[in-house]
Amino acid sequence: MPKTADIVVVGGGINGCSTAYHLARRGARNIVLIEKGHVASGPTGRSSGIVRQHYTNPTLAAMARDSVRVFERFADEVGGDAGFVQCGVVFLSGADSARVLAETVEMHRRMGIRESVLSADDLKAMEPQLVTEGVASGAYDPDGGYADPALAANSFADAAKRLGVAIVKRTTVTALRMEQGRIAGVVTDKEEIASPIVVNVAGPWGARLAAIAGVEIPLTVTRHPVVVMQRPRTWRTRTPVWADLVGGSYFKPDGDTGIMVGSVQNDHRSVDADAYVETATHDEIAAASSAIVRRFPIMEDGTASKGWAGLYDVTPDSQPVIDRIEQVPGFFCAVGFSGHGFKISPAVGRIVSDLVLDGECRHYDIAVFRHDRFKTGDLHQSGYAYSIVG
Ligand SMILES: Cc1cc2nc3c(=O)[nH]c(=O)nc-3n(C[C@H](O)[C@H](O)[C@H](O)COP(=O)(O)OP(=O)(O)OC[C@H]3O[C@@H](n4cnc5c(N)ncnc54)[C@H](O)[C@@H]3O)c2cc1C
Repeated sequence: MPKTADIVVVGGGINGCSTAYHLARRGARNIVLIEKGHVASGPTGRSSGIVRQHYTNPTLAAMARDSVRVFERFADEVGGDAGFVQCGVVFLSGADSARVLAETVEMHRRMGIRESVLSADDLKAMEPQLVTEGVASGAYDPDGGYADPALAANSFADAAKRLGVAIVKRTTVTALRMEQGRIAGVVTDKEEIASPIVVNVAGPWGARLAAIAGVEIPLTVTRHPVVVMQRPRTWRTRTPVWADLVGGSYFKPDGDTGIMVGSVQNDHRSVDADAYVETATHDEIAAASSAIVRRFPIMEDGTASKGWAGLYDVTPDSQPVIDRIEQVPGFFCAVGFSGHGFKISPAVGRIVSDLVLDGECRHYDIAVFRHDRFKTGDLHQSGYAYSIVG
């Protein structure tokens, strides 16, 4: 393990790996990424990997748009594979949010996202198995889909390694070294690394790490179960990802025969990130099965095949903190992705590398991610009832 570094990145999830890669790609050297397990061993490895561009906030929409372009050309842009399947994404809305949906689609079209509003009849024609009860309209994004988060994170890590980044696994950062009020390095369970810059991309453990530097980040760690079912032989046609804002669930194709069911609602109960129920419970499998049968009755003949639960690192407005921490020079945070941090990870790496190397981000207006918003009360308001939709 190196004894000194110019930049230490803590966390080998998708955003830590993307950050290390983007820093190295921009020419930074002596970068060390430290991961307490293996790459993607945290929430990234349990993620559904949905890649959608439908965000009511323009910054998030722009980040999602640019990230889709990276996922589309991952082998050429980054190298390796992200497992991107461009099956399209449909957002289903009820009458209460049809106006927000239409305005969001308009905003997206102005910024170069191909998206259109479909009526309930159009949606039924697109997917004959769909029941449109309660659905007023849908937003169809043909360029979205889903990717393989563990594969994508490992590909970012491999690309970073090729550019000279040292990836140190099975090593935990236990403390931060401070000198005269600024970051001077990290202490790990093995050795210390002196470094003038530390980037905290530690996901659900990010608030704990920040607290060592005296920085408060209001994160609640919550549990998110998903269930994978097998589609019956009578429904093996290609179908997009469905985000059902009426029923509160999402349905994501899983290979050619499976479909994953998750919730677009946040369970606000806090859990211990180091000791939580990692499997989907019997009740959760039953609830997922009921949710998909309501929208796709043909799934009455489907079978539940597997399920698990991962962690969300949730902030009060469901948006991450991506910022240079003013009170501790040399300390940067990109945490609190609140259950939607996979799809925007290519843009996140770009933003953090700009912040570290230029002191500001020139590509996006990142005010929505400021750390001090929790003090000023300037929190993001989603256009939808589900804040995760952004
Ligand atoms: C079930 C589930 C489904 C999801 N579905 C989607 C989806 O469809 N689309 C989407 O965009 N997002 C989704 N998300 C959210 C998305 O997966 C996460 O926001 C994203 O993966 C977070 O990546 P990260 O790199 O920020 O953090 P993490 O994946 O949490 O990685 C942080 C890493 O830091 C390491 N670490 C922590 N502390 C230390 C330390 N002290 N020393 C060393 N290493 C440390 C951890 O081991 C971990 O590997 C989902 C999440 C879950 C759980």
